[in-house]
Amino acid sequence: MDRIYFDHAATTPLDEDVLNKMLPYLRECYGNPDSPHGVGRSAMHAVDDARDTVAGLIGAKPNEVYFTSGGTEADNWALIGGARAQKAKGKTRVVVSSIEHHAVLAAAEELQKEGFSITYLPVNEGGRVALSDIRAALSDDVGVVALMAANNETGVLQPVREAAALAHKNGSLFFCDGVQAAPYMPLNVRDWDVDMLSFSAHKFYGPKGCGVLYIRGGVKMERLVAGGEQERGLRGGTVNVPSVVGLAAAYSKNVATMYASNEKIQRLRNLFLSEIMPLGGVTVNGDQTQTLPSVLNVRFAGVRNEEFLLNMDLRGVCVAAGSACASASVKPSHVLTAMGLTEDEARSSVRFSFGKNNTEEEILRGAALTKEIIERLRKFS
Ligand SMILES: *Cc1c(COP(=O)(O)O)cnc(C)c1O
Repeated sequence: MDRIYFDHAATTPLDEDVLNKMLPYLRECYGNPDSPHGVGRSAMHAVDDARDTVAGLIGAKPNEVYFTSGGTEADNWALIGGARAQKAKGKTRVVVSSIEHHAVLAAAEELQKEGFSITYLPVNEGGRVALSDIRAALSDDVGVVALMAANNETGVLQPVREAAALAHKNGSLFFCDGVQAAPYMPLNVRDWDVDMLSFSAHKFYGPKGCGVLYIRGGVKMERLVAGGEQERGLRGGTVNVPSVVGLAAAYSKNVATMYASNEKIQRLRNLFLSEIMPLGGVTVNGDQTQTLPSVLNVRFAGVRNEEFLLNMDLRGVCVAAGSACASASVKPSHVLTAMGLTEDEARSSVRFSFGKNNTEEEILRGAALTKEIIERLRKFS
């Protein structure tokens, strides 16, 4: 039986068209974009084109687009580089939501070791940050405010535009982790009025290990990766040419096909939910009026998620307990506990995340296996 993949929030398969656009840069066009000769120049042109494409699609200028090794580096850089640069102005506090990805939360912990103070924003039971809590957290010493566009465990959307306005009124920089949102909604840095925005190619059918940090022109940033003068002196290291080409190709294709695939994915997600509802004891986590079409985080009363995942995996279905980065740990999800779930409730929650290549047949088969396994686990618990 074919494997079923319901873990698109962790990563997506590489799109065939994207692979084909990358291949020449893995073969004949192997130049270093900084080399002063023909082979280097063709690589440089490819990187320039990719930067122009990405900038055009997010409403930025090409020189505001920085290529990184992925979402994690971009998130680290935004928070740490932004906070360190703000320190010169006496701003030594950083405000982050309590449901950020570990790439942001761990960066905040690094800042704390350097002497920064961190304020964590709570969320309501639907998993959303309230503007009143942002307002209450703001003071003169806040250098950077970080709020993700969409949460990777629940899919719940956050009030980014409003949060950015509050941060700016306070004289703080605003950073948005757009990694999970990028596949499903158009990102526009002018629209949202963000100072920094991150996203990552492998969440929208591009290659792993390649991301973008947008930094608004004029914003002071310290670099994280010291080295050569690449990326306007702010990010050392030879640019990953094949992956940058792949990121731009994947992002353009994603933007062009987004509405149609969102509709399909949402339909599949709803079908899956209606198929598993008859089990009873099924609760959907997260505000369902403000969510990505792809993520379905559900709690199965009386079931340990790790046992469920193991059983699904044995039957060839890939699902996750929460973020891939945390699934090796035994800790319950920080996102679900921030929403007020008990540790037990968080441990009986599972994240299904659907993608454009899933089929109705897979949904029905995956839902039938889910029902069978949940019923069996409940009987023996
Ligand atoms: C996947 C993800 C990241 C990390 O991106 P990588 O490219 O895997 O390092 C960061 N933030 C969010 C919200 C994500 O979903």
